[in-house]
Amino acid sequence: MAGKSKIEWTESTWNPVTGCTKISAGCLNCYAERLAIRLKAMGQRNYQNGFELTLHERMLDYPLKLKTPQIIFVNSMSDLFHEKIPIEYILKVFDVMKRAHWHRFQVLTKRADRLSELSPILNWTSNIWMGVTVENADVMYRINHLRQTNANVKFLSVEPLIGPLPDLDLSGIDWVIVGGESGPSARPMEKQWVTDIKDVCLEYNVPFFFKQWGGINKKKAGRLLDGRIWDEVPIIDTKKQETAGNILAL
Ligand code: SF4
Repeated sequence: MAGKSKIEWTESTWNPVTGCTKISAGCLNCYAERLAIRLKAMGQRNYQNGFELTLHERMLDYPLKLKTPQIIFVNSMSDLFHEKIPIEYILKVFDVMKRAHWHRFQVLTKRADRLSELSPILNWTSNIWMGVTVENADVMYRINHLRQTNANVKFLSVEPLIGPLPDLDLSGIDWVIVGGESGPSARPMEKQWVTDIKDVCLEYNVPFFFKQWGGINKKKAGRLLDGRIWDEVPIIDTKKQETAGNILAL
């Protein structure tokens, strides 16, 4: 429900919502769905509804209780901009992120159209990093929606990469994470697709994070690209972030 994360590019997860519905090809082997079904079978309180979209009001203030500053992935088990999540609830999540200014929050969505639609009424404090998933060329339009938001840090989660991303435009984008699909039904990722994205990152001077090759045995496949690990992340002006947080917390 909430706690330490195994995801390479974050530290903790916070799930004020669980459950979701599939929206594009990247959802085919949804990890959250598999896990939710497992957690339901184990009798976990927050997964009584399995993968059905469920709001958990009592989880809203969880980040405020975490006193150590950390990177928190918001809704790893759902999509914050899902059409069934009321606007008022999304505003509450943003309010907590503002109040918990000592953390950095990473929000990731595939509902980029709703994200850009709601962006003007959201409070984009500097500790919120906003990302969209771009798994293939069919959904590259999400990048434009992300660009239209007022988020201070904008990133792409190119995972699972299941096709090439031709003519990738990274203007206004601060970070790119790439990864292949893992698990028994993993779809293949070609090295050329990854290399092309890495080259565009170098051209635009955008930090590039290569998470994994994926596949059936993701540990064995590892995460080396061209003989090295790519762990780049945007440089954050923590002072600015803290100052902004303090002002906003008044
Ligand atoms: S949007 Fe994310 S959480 Fe929702 S079904 Fe797709 S992969 Fe799963």
